[in-house]
Amino acid sequence: MKTYPIPMVPGPVVVPEVIRQVYLEPYGSGDLETEFVELYTRTQRRLKAICGTRDDIVIMSGEGMLSLWSALKSCLVTGDRVLAVATGVFGYGIGEMAQSIGAEVKTVGFSYDETINDTPRIEAAIAEFKPRMITAVHCETPSGTLNPLEELGRLKHAYRVPLFYVDTVAGAGGVPVLADDWHIDLCLGGSQKCLSAPPDMSFLSVSPKAWEIIDAVGYVGYDALKPFQQALKNRFFPYTPSWQGVAALYAAAGLLLAEGLENSFNRHDATARFCRRRLVEIGIDLFPAVGAIPSPTVTAARIPQGISWEVWDRRLRERGLVVAGSYGPLAEKVFRLGHMGTQADIDLVEQALNVIAEAIQQR
Ligand SMILES: *Cc1c(COP(=O)(O)O)cnc(C)c1O
Repeated sequence: MKTYPIPMVPGPVVVPEVIRQVYLEPYGSGDLETEFVELYTRTQRRLKAICGTRDDIVIMSGEGMLSLWSALKSCLVTGDRVLAVATGVFGYGIGEMAQSIGAEVKTVGFSYDETINDTPRIEAAIAEFKPRMITAVHCETPSGTLNPLEELGRLKHAYRVPLFYVDTVAGAGGVPVLADDWHIDLCLGGSQKCLSAPPDMSFLSVSPKAWEIIDAVGYVGYDALKPFQQALKNRFFPYTPSWQGVAALYAAAGLLLAEGLENSFNRHDATARFCRRRLVEIGIDLFPAVGAIPSPTVTAARIPQGISWEVWDRRLRERGLVVAGSYGPLAEKVFRLGHMGTQADIDLVEQALNVIAEAIQQR
């Protein structure tokens, strides 16, 4: 397989050697040994610290999208009202997902280069629509932005909205997540972004209120959350859990906690600032408008004038750098540098920016 010496894709990120080794260890043949139950419990504890919650953590086999779908399908029935606060591909997408399973969805939409603002508009929508669930995205990866959630959580609490659903797949571990303080009931994460594990696991926090609703809804399916409520207690998982996958997540969370979450946040922030400053110096326009909050985990920038994404991507790859394009309305216009997890590294970003500086000069 061709690998690039300067990997800057915003997930899956480079998996460090110590985590790759975890997959090679022998795990025996029993699927619910006491050792596995202990490993799962210790992993939950580490993920609680990363999500800032005392709520339960469910860890499932499957990439990040699994947690997004399972939380919607397990908590909603036909006709339930969902208020989707959307600033980008994932924010609008979650509203469409909820609609596809029969929810009545109202969207408070912002443009893709904005982050959540205009509290009065959101508050009016909550007061009028009386949603059962509010959805939001923390790091909107395709546009390189980070939504503030504290105010939204405050509104959720003040208006007694039963459920606050937050996708922090590309935030958790790289930026502060305070699920309890922000009144988040379903805090969704994945293994392949800031945690730097392979893209095979997802996790989410589930508040007591969310469990109550999950229990009442009784959704049955491969992606159902309900069986996880008693899984540890009864030592009965809805399918064979991946010992390797949980072990890798445990090791990955351990690396972040050993570094110190504050140190990790500072490393991500410093790398992102360096990345944005160098892009501007080189003459590349950053994507999000002034006023929007750029994400410390991923930077979006405009593809230089007169160059197609295809050509730009090729020029960078020829020089050993691989970046990402974007999706939806940003496709062909924006490229992205993922400095999350192992890639939140100033030396790596400097190499990437040197390549970009050279590639923009090519005629
Ligand atoms: C990557 C990502 C996902 C999906 O995760 P997968 O592991 O690709 O399934 C969901 N939401 C956001 C914001 C992401 O960046």
